[in-house]
Amino acid sequence: METFQHDVLIVGGGGAGLRAAIAIARDHPDVGVGVISKVYPMRSHTVAAEGGAAAVISPTDSLDDHAYDTISGSDWLADQDAVEILVENASKELLQLEHWGCPWSREPDGRISVRPFGGMKLERTWYAADKTGFHLLHTLFQTSLKYDAINRYDEWFVTSLIVADGRCQGVTAIEIRTGEMHPIGARSVILCTGGAGRVYPFTTNGNIKTGDGMALAYRAGVPLKDMEFVQYHPTGLPGTGILITEAARGEGGILVNKEGRRYLQNYDLGQPLDINDPNHPQKQTMELGPRDRLSQAFIKEREAGRTFEGPDGDYVHLDIRHLGEREIDRKIPMVRELAVRYVGIDPVHKPIPVRTVVHYMMGGIDTDTNGATSLPGLFAAGECACVSVNGANRLGSNSLTEILVFGARAASVAVDQAGQVPPPSNQLLTTSARSQEMKLKATLLHPNGGSDTVSGIRTALQETLEEGAGIFRDGATLERTCASIAQLQDRYEKLSLVDTSRTFNTDLVAALELGAMLEIGEAIAHSALARTESRGSHQRTDHPDRDDDGFLRHSLAFRGEGDPTIEYKEVTVTRWPPSERVYGRA
Ligand SMILES: Cc1cc2nc3c(=O)[nH]c(=O)nc-3n(C[C@H](O)[C@H](O)[C@H](O)COP(=O)(O)OP(=O)(O)OC[C@H]3O[C@@H](n4cnc5c(N)ncnc54)[C@H](O)[C@@H]3O)c2cc1C
Repeated sequence: METFQHDVLIVGGGGAGLRAAIAIARDHPDVGVGVISKVYPMRSHTVAAEGGAAAVISPTDSLDDHAYDTISGSDWLADQDAVEILVENASKELLQLEHWGCPWSREPDGRISVRPFGGMKLERTWYAADKTGFHLLHTLFQTSLKYDAINRYDEWFVTSLIVADGRCQGVTAIEIRTGEMHPIGARSVILCTGGAGRVYPFTTNGNIKTGDGMALAYRAGVPLKDMEFVQYHPTGLPGTGILITEAARGEGGILVNKEGRRYLQNYDLGQPLDINDPNHPQKQTMELGPRDRLSQAFIKEREAGRTFEGPDGDYVHLDIRHLGEREIDRKIPMVRELAVRYVGIDPVHKPIPVRTVVHYMMGGIDTDTNGATSLPGLFAAGECACVSVNGANRLGSNSLTEILVFGARAASVAVDQAGQVPPPSNQLLTTSARSQEMKLKATLLHPNGGSDTVSGIRTALQETLEEGAGIFRDGATLERTCASIAQLQDRYEKLSLVDTSRTFNTDLVAALELGAMLEIGEAIAHSALARTESRGSHQRTDHPDRDDDGFLRHSLAFRGEGDPTIEYKEVTVTRWPPSERVYGRA
């Protein structure tokens, strides 16, 4: 077993992880950085982002407007100090990316192009056509290559945090190529491991989004915050769940039901004005209402029998034909490419079938605005963290900005703290890796003749979460989901793999990921059961109203021996007292 050490160790090579690594290497050239990723960094989910990144750039826009939209979009659950940090640093980060080579789309006169996005009052979403994440991650990756201080561990899978003397001192990780377990010591560790959409059966998320980092922190006693808030996106392709970006609606796409009606006009999307008023702003923006309300409207349409039936579930139509071939090819070429390739429909000539799909976790590892967790030495940033700027519902295009702003911020505090503690001892590192290895050999790699499979337990987990903790939930279905997850956890304890080889054992990786997914599922279901109100993406049919007196608070799920314990903490309100959610141009 080889032992490695760095001053700061970053788990995750996506947007948050690479931004953090560059921040350290550029501003603190003497600090050694390690970046571990279970896939080659360019395969991280950030690469799949399409629509864009939000930041105030237009002279008619303001930081306060961006903050207000984000806070009301969050149904007032976002921490307003964190939102202020996000909006203040947003354009600085995006301009910085441009200096590193990110090809933002531009207007003919050279100004940065911005497009409208759901829940944003004004156009403030910067984009690189509809491949924003690809360009953003490429830019970060190529920039990171300039710094020798960044040591990469590509295709290494982190299995545990090393915690001793009350602080995090590194991780244990399997080098997937050889199957060997190694310890990697560090004085600070930053988790940038992304989201967990794969715990649901139908998602836009890549296979690797299994919530590993959230589970690592949860097991180490750090609470998971606001896990009941799961974002469904209204426009995924039936069958695959591949995302059709909100940019398609930002550019003017409309949603119609099987009667050919723009059905969103039937619903309250958070706009208090009269929909029949010809000057009603929602006439232009109804498809750009917030994602939670649009996804809920889809379910209501389905219940009313106004959706199309298809082999891969019910769907509605996203119509962009009126934009014309030239505009579609110029602004949203990937939408056309995906529709042609995956559902055989050319959106220049026909509407695209779309349905709701799990997209993003608003919840995650509880951190303060510097990314620090309750465990000294452990930080988190990006989608795995809950800082919280997204509250009960994230606005599209805020996440790419969040991973940059808070990735860089967590890095700077992690460096400061690393300077204040000694490096971990070699003995601690080797003992930790040995005990992880023994645990693996005694559990997953130990033949016990059982017949359960990884995919069997995973499918059951996904189904019970969708049934009990989907777009609409209630106490009875959530209780059933909690109980079935507990049973699945018992089955997982007895799981043993048929393939016990160590070289590129993807079955082993999937089994370890499943362990994390079960913990994430548990935290989601229990947090949802405990929140007896409806807010943002968490809609309880048995408690349909928002209850600020009882629940203008973040939930914190702590891992227990049996069920998790759910506690609450106050939301930080700075300048915007809670009120109704309002969208559209006022
Ligand atoms: C299809 C799609 C489109 C999107 N479009 C937009 C958009 O237009 N605008 C927007 O703002 N947001 C968008 N989002 C959301 C946004 O892309 C993500 O929230 C964001 O990119 C997450 O970045 P991250 O760095 O936190 O995590 P990721 O990019 O997911 O990276 C996670 C990293 O952690 C590593 N990792 C995880 N577990 C382990 C482990 N056990 N051991 C070692 N390494 C590990 C992975 O290898 C990976 O490198 C979109 C999301 C999807 C799915």
